[in-house]
Amino acid sequence: MPFKDLSLDRKIESVLDQLGLTEPTPIQQQAIPAAMVGNDLVASSKTGSGKTLAFLLPALQRVMRQKALSKRDPRVLVLTPTRELASQVYGQLRSLLSATPYRSTLVVGGENFNDQAKALRKDPHFVVATPGRIANHYNERTLGLDGLELLILDEADRMLDLGFAGELKLINEAANHRLRQTLMFSATLEHAEVEELAQDLLKKPKRIVIDEVTKPHDDIRQRFLFCDHLDHKQALLQRVLQDSEINQAIIFTATRSDTDRLAKILDDSGFSTASLSGDLNQQDRNRIMDKFSRGQQQILITTDVASRGLDLLNVSLVINFDMPKHAEEYVHRIGRTGRAGSQGDAVSFVGPRDWDAFQRVKRYLSLNVKFEQIEGLEGKFKGIKPKPKKKVKAGDTAKGKHKTAGKSKTAQQRRPKRPATRRPAPELVSGDGLAPLKKKKTAAKPDDSGES
Ligand code: ADP
Ligand code: MG
Repeated sequence: MPFKDLSLDRKIESVLDQLGLTEPTPIQQQAIPAAMVGNDLVASSKTGSGKTLAFLLPALQRVMRQKALSKRDPRVLVLTPTRELASQVYGQLRSLLSATPYRSTLVVGGENFNDQAKALRKDPHFVVATPGRIANHYNERTLGLDGLELLILDEADRMLDLGFAGELKLINEAANHRLRQTLMFSATLEHAEVEELAQDLLKKPKRIVIDEVTKPHDDIRQRFLFCDHLDHKQALLQRVLQDSEINQAIIFTATRSDTDRLAKILDDSGFSTASLSGDLNQQDRNRIMDKFSRGQQQILITTDVASRGLDLLNVSLVINFDMPKHAEEYVHRIGRTGRAGSQGDAVSFVGPRDWDAFQRVKRYLSLNVKFEQIEGLEGKFKGIKPKPKKKVKAGDTAKGKHKTAGKSKTAQQRRPKRPATRRPAPELVSGDGLAPLKKKKTAAKPDDSGES
């Protein structure tokens, strides 16, 4: 099916032509017409399958074809969980808008507030932003949202993970009118919290699911290696990098301190390596991403701050040096490769401290995993056998008899009700199998510092 069949404005068609895009991807084929007729959407499809254009094209079409509700307020607001993703989506929007008279601006945390206020005074039609900073502008009255027609939440589930539910509700209420349309996109949207958010923000949404998350990504080869301890992980890392024909690679670690440490080790062994974490200032973050996306560095070591949305077509290898805390983040991390039909490898290191996280990923994706060995670096760790469940006597419960004595319940009835998305306990200091079993506040938080 060519883009022409979607009844997009001629100007949009010609920009797509210039960009060399001829055929909409499956998510675009379904989401674009549904959004164009005014539906609210909850839409999911695999990483790298073209979700950005699936929301930007109908947004542009709406702005071109419909009369504005307000001359001053933005007509379209796109929210993303991280500044880097906002900046990437903004780049794509700018190339679409190049042949149109419409204005746009980027509003993210870590950048100068007054410069943003100045840009907002020029009444952009489109704003791409992170939620915290948008809420600041709204509260400071440097931004009005009465006239907002289209609210787009990219990676909505991650915004909730990062604690932006309050900001999202504020923005929703600021623009809560009959004509407001709302679109939600991610590769992973099957959570109770997302459902709650959808009920708050969306009106009778149409749901589009291109592939269930459990369907393996055809273009990503997933490999798993057992690891004994940190030194073993480091030796495996060097070997995997040496043995792979890498274009560019991204390595994910559990903690920010590990990003710098590993970057130094790899840099010393001749790989041009950069590290990116949320505690850097925004100028440094921009500089690092800019260099990496231009291919000037081969390896990026980072945390989940870079797991979502980033579209770097030369990334042929993703390594999970530590398994991610949330199973969904595994999907997004490995999704930094194998984008837009290209092929990629994802290698995950699983040590004793990663075992629970690995089990969560395995369950979430119904993975059938065969661990591999690397010659000369075989490990001893082979997984942890589940403890046999204690037998519970009839009429007894695991936690004290007094409460339910005589009320003999089935195991199912005894299990407390939990939302489907209950998060695992805070992570340990390190996922390397060596660090002490001690909780560390900064490491346990998602790497969102400064995202606003
Ligand atoms: P997602 O948000 O689903 O992870 P993106 O929107 O970042 O994916 O798109 C991934 C890549 O696919 C981008 O490089 C984008 O330019 C490319 N792409 C998007 N739509 C098409 C299309 N219709 N045909 C070819 N490539 C496309
Ligand atoms: Mg995306």
